[in-house]
Amino acid sequence: MKKKYLLLSVFIFSMLFISSCGKLKSIETGAAINETKNTPVFQVINKPSSELESVSINYIYDNDYNLSVEYPSTSYKELNTMVEEMVYSYINEHKQDLSIDFETIKYNDIYVSFKFNIEYFSEDKVKVSTIKAFTFDLENGKNILLRDIFKPEVDYLKLLSPKIPVDILSNQTVINEASFDCFALNKENLMIYFHPDKSIVDSEVIGNTELFEVPLKDIYNELAPPFGTIEKPVEKEEKLIALTFDDGPNPLTTPILLDGLAQRNVKATFFMLGMCIENNQEIVKRMYKEGHDIGNHSYSHKNLPKIKNADAKVQYNKPNEILNSIIGTGSTLFRPPYGNYNQSIKEFITTPIILWNIDPEDWKYKDADGISKHIVDRARDGDIILLHDIYATSVEAAFKVIDTLQEQGFKFVTVDELIRRNGEKPEATQVFMNKSIQK
Ligand code: ZN
Repeated sequence: MKKKYLLLSVFIFSMLFISSCGKLKSIETGAAINETKNTPVFQVINKPSSELESVSINYIYDNDYNLSVEYPSTSYKELNTMVEEMVYSYINEHKQDLSIDFETIKYNDIYVSFKFNIEYFSEDKVKVSTIKAFTFDLENGKNILLRDIFKPEVDYLKLLSPKIPVDILSNQTVINEASFDCFALNKENLMIYFHPDKSIVDSEVIGNTELFEVPLKDIYNELAPPFGTIEKPVEKEEKLIALTFDDGPNPLTTPILLDGLAQRNVKATFFMLGMCIENNQEIVKRMYKEGHDIGNHSYSHKNLPKIKNADAKVQYNKPNEILNSIIGTGSTLFRPPYGNYNQSIKEFITTPIILWNIDPEDWKYKDADGISKHIVDRARDGDIILLHDIYATSVEAAFKVIDTLQEQGFKFVTVDELIRRNGEKPEATQVFMNKSIQK
């Protein structure tokens, strides 16, 4: 409505301007208008459209005749003629009590539909609302028919007819091409405006246009280019993320974690201490059986660069020997305690070094909500998250993180899956902080 008042004032202003120049003799002061004016004054104002560069809007107003008409002009005469013929057929038939405005509905900047909302009073003074629509190719100046948006071999009548809702069908005696004449198109939907069949219209339902909407994704295979190809929904790229749990296993908390992971169908990576593996062999067997990655986190959590190189080597090798005796294989991933290593340590390590890029410091903040929020706020594809399954709060946080991020489309994978996603085999000297950052 605001727009109309603005336009009205534009109109009045221009009328005053014209009057003061003395060029439009029939309009002078308010009181005299009704007596002197026998037909509406078709003053057409043309303004650029804010929605489309190549389109301008024509306004025709006459308050005395309750006439208000808006319609678009394109840069193509042929298209403009189509619109004007429609608009002027209403103006010529009604001359008063007529309102036409339009909406611009865009598939993109080239394929544009203009949907006209038309209101007038019929001869027996019944208010009629109806809809007309044109779809244009504004690049080539072509009128687009419904059959143009379908592949040539597609019988769109046959395709669309079964989809028409029953309540619309009940107002139609026959469904044919003409029933589908009036349509518009945006990125998501094909909108078809059904007019009630004249033969069964009574004064109650006259002019009630009914909208029949078809999601484009439901008919993509039947659509002609560009409609069937431009915006075909692309497969969402998978967002992978890896949870890692250090310093376990712990007989109290780790089984609870394994239960929750199994329930959620999540595989994780456990960087375990050799001494804890020794004491919790059944848990380690279960982990391995359930598809989690078995990682080495040294024998007793020594800060490796601070101890003798020979001792550091034992810290690295011993967990692998223990694992071999329990599950028949050593670990293929190593995480040094505190993430600390140096060149002389790297020399005896035969597996990739796995660090992390998200650390909620769960050992310090024993608060499941806070830990979970820290992770969820930062999570991105390819992240490696550091947690410790020896704390109940961390286990609880892990479940919260999984439930939230799975909702957002993340898939939880083991570190091995994460770093091999591009088909590359990680090498012994490589250091990973996430899927791609390597030191
Ligand atoms: Zn640790």
